[in-house]
Amino acid sequence: MKAVCWHGANDVRVDTVPDPKILNPRDAIIKITSTAICGSDLHLYDGYIPTMQAGDILGHEFMGEVVELGSAVKNVKVGDRVVVPFTIACGSCFFCNRDLWSLCDNSNPNAWMAEQMMGHSPSGLFGYSHLFGGYAGGQAEYARVPFADVGLFKIPDGLTDDQVLFLTDIFPTGYMAAENCNIQPGDTVAVWGCGPVGQFAIKSAFMLGAERVIAIDRVPERLQMAKEQCGAEVLNYEEIEVGDALKEMTGGRGPDSCLDAVGMEAHGTGPMALYDQVKQAVRLETDRPTALRQVMLACSKGGHVSLAGVYGGFLDKIPMGAAFNKGLTFKMGQTHVHRYLKPLLERVQNGEIDPSFVITHRLPLDEAKHGYEIFKHKKDNCIKVVLKP
Ligand code: NAD
Ligand code: ZN
Repeated sequence: MKAVCWHGANDVRVDTVPDPKILNPRDAIIKITSTAICGSDLHLYDGYIPTMQAGDILGHEFMGEVVELGSAVKNVKVGDRVVVPFTIACGSCFFCNRDLWSLCDNSNPNAWMAEQMMGHSPSGLFGYSHLFGGYAGGQAEYARVPFADVGLFKIPDGLTDDQVLFLTDIFPTGYMAAENCNIQPGDTVAVWGCGPVGQFAIKSAFMLGAERVIAIDRVPERLQMAKEQCGAEVLNYEEIEVGDALKEMTGGRGPDSCLDAVGMEAHGTGPMALYDQVKQAVRLETDRPTALRQVMLACSKGGHVSLAGVYGGFLDKIPMGAAFNKGLTFKMGQTHVHRYLKPLLERVQNGEIDPSFVITHRLPLDEAKHGYEIFKHKKDNCIKVVLKP
């Protein structure tokens, strides 16, 4: 089959690789009909996630048709149309039983690596390095889905791929991040980053009762989408001092909650942004927490900080004194996609939201390299790329 393979920083290729096979009774093989490139894939593309190996198949946002089932998978049939959460979870461990699916104890065969770095291992992830299990991803013609009896969600007739594909990741991710803001009636939520995750975070914050959402980025078409499609007030961080502007817009108090949808590869202006860029480039710092610092300083006293953006390792100059003395609450993590998938599918079905609004590019799988380039560099007004095998 054809698959998008990682060959090093800024080097992805569409290779011909062996077809996946059923390895365990709980596996399924999916013929992929749509798959997307995510901001998380850029962290791999840019070479910031360790333990990638040349030839690893990328992709964790994918859906398609069931073509083969292991003997233990009874809840779906060959021919069913399904979406697949990007987090791999067994469905029966201590953490899955508590609805904490991205913390599954049984789905990372390389748990020992993660334990050395983080104390404990999170779940395995599709197409996301050997640290997270070394699973082949879904930017391919076919994929093997482990624990398919809990990891496949059947899609009802009448919904297009474009409408349901993002239930695999970015819609639940934006929604969980908004939920982690503990939004109360009348609240103002500030969202850093107007990429696809930021857009869903804004929409979700309104669904959960926010009165105002203020969104921050520097890319004009992303700010425009946040304003026109999602109803946010917008700030361009290259044109104004974000902290001052947020204070002014909230009567001096600051936003009630601040949501980071940027993560480890933030850009920025001023000496701290330069500091992060230099230190990350020479590998003295794993992440660039330029947006995170702003989030912590801007947030109202007693406020909630929610991180959807991915952080990978060890961060410098985090204003912990501000967080402590302002009594901030932090929530974060890889999304518990299995928890949110059905309720959010219902919102798509009843017409409350059409997630396809973020798609700007649909390309054949063969053009994946071009897709990564325009998404990374925000060329051609690119906001979200869907690949069609
Ligand atoms: P993206 O790269 O398209 O979007 C990031 C946006 O942040 C860009 O528009 C960029 O211009 C903007 N930005 C950069 N620096 C900024 C700053 N200092 N202030 C404000 N905006 C800034 O990516 P995406 O697909 O929207 O993903 C966003 C983040 O969410 C990534 O880190 C991704 O890994 C993460 N993510 C997390 C999960 C999860 O489970 N928690 C799931 C999916 C994605
Ligand atoms: Zn993703």
